[in-house]
Amino acid sequence: MPTPLLLTPIPEDQLLRVLWDDDTLNDYPFAYLRGWCPCAVCQGHGGERHFVEVENPQLVSINMVGNYAVNPTWDDGHETGIYTYAYLRSLGENQDNQHSHDNPEGTR
Ligand SMILES: [Zn+2]
Repeated sequence: MPTPLLLTPIPEDQLLRVLWDDDTLNDYPFAYLRGWCPCAVCQGHGGERHFVEVENPQLVSINMVGNYAVNPTWDDGHETGIYTYAYLRSLGENQDNQHSHDNPEGTR
């Protein structure tokens, strides 16, 4: 199981950069990360995970939970999302699949 080594919020780019211990680097736009918040408040109970649209969410901080997950705190006080490493990793990989690989650094 890959483990995040570094969690680096980059507010000027509106994303969280995660360096994994297998040298993979993933960028998670705040709105993307927040939208896939796995907590019961966002997801309700049962059914498939769905994307929750949040306008302009700002990451305040992100903390490790034990050695299996990360827990972001958002500027609206939302902090119940526990993203396991496996889930966080899958978010990074799914996101990649939605982009062309022409410009991996992004253009902004
Ligand atoms: Zn949530």
